[in-house]
Amino acid sequence: MGDDPASVAYVRGKARKAAEVGLRSTVHALPEATPQAELLALIAQLNADPAVHGVLVQLPLPVHLDPQPVLDAVLPAKDVDGLHPVSTGHLWAGQPGLRPCTPAGVMALLAFYGLPVAGQRAVIVGRSALVGRPLAALLLNANATVTLAHSRTPDLGAVTREADLLIVAAGRAHLITPDMVRPGATVIDVGINRVPDETGQGRLTGDVHPGVAGVAGALTPVPGGVGPMTVAQLLMNTVLAAEAQQAQSPQPQTPEVSGGLLR
Ligand code: NAD
Repeated sequence: MGDDPASVAYVRGKARKAAEVGLRSTVHALPEATPQAELLALIAQLNADPAVHGVLVQLPLPVHLDPQPVLDAVLPAKDVDGLHPVSTGHLWAGQPGLRPCTPAGVMALLAFYGLPVAGQRAVIVGRSALVGRPLAALLLNANATVTLAHSRTPDLGAVTREADLLIVAAGRAHLITPDMVRPGATVIDVGINRVPDETGQGRLTGDVHPGVAGVAGALTPVPGGVGPMTVAQLLMNTVLAAEAQQAQSPQPQTPEVSGGLLR
């Protein structure tokens, strides 16, 4: 909804990647002033359409709309963003379900590079419903020992230095400096910040100071690290949702919890 430039760019990117892998996507671009009832009616129509397997409401919504009832209106089976309370419940209970895209993208990235998670001490900086919280659940389900740090954590460096696996999603450019990282730690930079540059356009940078590359065992770049993984996971969720709807299965079978919740 509306014409937030970042949202317009994200939606365009998602549509392009969907087309690349052969998924049909439709963008319903609504004017900023659209009443909530009209948005809810569109979601209800997409929920009921058997040709649609996934529904994503691009955030942020214009300020006159309350996002929660809008997110709650998406049919859980089609919740490819993984932000519906039903999806959140499944995640925290260690049950199969659709996972939020950015945290699931982080897990896929770790798996691809063979970086260990089970038994590791994981510290996440940031506790948002979009990134930090669901990532804590995914890491827990994957048998890491998880700490969530946030804006009220005293002596952040003392906490981050404990991490074998440090994931930063605070939205503060270069918050994490080399002295805050244990040598050899895996560092995942989720942050995307626009900072001033010579061109006047601004450039994108992460939450992790570039100097951390000299200390970390592995470090994701910004841009080009977690961002593309988020889109990939959206496509993955859409396929999982379609398969579950085809099989009339109650929940998509997400790979990471196929063994059930470990105690
Ligand atoms: P948010 O603003 O909702 O949450 C930020 C969190 O960071 C909060 O929990 C806050 O307590 C914590 N925080 C803020 N300042 C801090 C500090 N000085 N010390 C410790 N903790 C601090 O943000 P969000 O939606 O979770 O996004 C976080 C960042 O990740 C943003 O830069 C966002 O652009 C980026 N992001 C990237 C992707 C991607 O695909 N790569 C997806 C979502 C978000």
